[in-house]
Amino acid sequence: MVLVDLATGTLVSDPAEVATVLEPTADTDTLAAAASGNAGPVAIRFPVFNDGRGISLARLLRDRHGFTGEIRAIGHLIPDLAQFLLRSGFDTAEIADPEQAHVWKSSVERIKHNYQPAFRNPLPLRWSAARTEAADLDQRLAKIKTLTDRIREVGRRIEGRIVFSTNLGLEDQAILHAVAESGVDVDVFTLDTGRLFPEVLETVELSELRYGLRIRLVAPEASEVEALVARDGVFGFRDSVANRKACCDIRKVRPLNRELKGAQAWISGLRREHSEERANVPLAAWDDARALVKINPVAEWSTQDLTAYIAANNIPVNPLHARGFVSIGCAPCTRAVQPGESPRAGRWWWENEEKKECGLHLNPKRKGGRAA
Ligand code: SF4
Repeated sequence: MVLVDLATGTLVSDPAEVATVLEPTADTDTLAAAASGNAGPVAIRFPVFNDGRGISLARLLRDRHGFTGEIRAIGHLIPDLAQFLLRSGFDTAEIADPEQAHVWKSSVERIKHNYQPAFRNPLPLRWSAARTEAADLDQRLAKIKTLTDRIREVGRRIEGRIVFSTNLGLEDQAILHAVAESGVDVDVFTLDTGRLFPEVLETVELSELRYGLRIRLVAPEASEVEALVARDGVFGFRDSVANRKACCDIRKVRPLNRELKGAQAWISGLRREHSEERANVPLAAWDDARALVKINPVAEWSTQDLTAYIAANNIPVNPLHARGFVSIGCAPCTRAVQPGESPRAGRWWWENEEKKECGLHLNPKRKGGRAA
């Protein structure tokens, strides 16, 4: 007997002991007892490979009973089941013949390659499970000390497309370094609003040369920008908060949302120290509005942690930082700050503090659109 990890196709070297074995006839009380306290792995038996009752039990354990631990498929299983098992909430499958391990592995890898962005949830079987998985990933990441290993864990746990939206700031440069070091396949892009500092674009080029990767420049829809400028003028975003939000919406939020479509995970450089709005930012959480896992791998880092990491790894940074710019956005909306001032004081300084979010990290489903 060997145990296959359905997310990766690899063998589990040290399987945990099963706490409960469920037969396909298990009733609600038995399921509730198995899920209670997430005491340990739950195994579900398949008397024949096409018995759908085991699939239903796994879904009930995840969706109704909130079970977040390992669910293991045991019994009569075939490699073609791998995709369905994974999407139904199973983590592992026990296979009787170790010689068959490579067949399971190629079956799992075929799933990964076949994953089409437009079908990130081909069947919404794991909709609720996605929340619990994101919470589980949050806990796992908290136990991992190095940034590179955190990115590797994300790569291991996430199927499908992982995107990283960088603004080339200090946090994002640290993450870029770790992404390059991790070898994880991450789609890196930046929002080219048309109003960026030349230094930002220079940092793009410098980083590409250093890490041998491409940072895609994502532009807004030209027709939308033309209509906005025709309506509000070239610097109309200074006239009112509404105008400024319209500008951020067209130049940043809509292009971002386009890029996030079909992604399974979104890496960003939010830190809890940034502002009160971000004080509780998790390392990973399910983003309901965008239907993906949002990952903030440096969420709990202090500024000191960040600068020490950058210095230790000789990471290229935007030269504007040396001139007092901390949080760097579009050129007309960013200024240097004085020592001791909040980093966000350099953004849209003519507005009230509580209105100063561009919308990229707001959860549109929450009333008031508070930062996620
Ligand atoms: S930061 Fe300023 S220029 Fe950039 S999109 Fe927002 S309002 Fe427009």
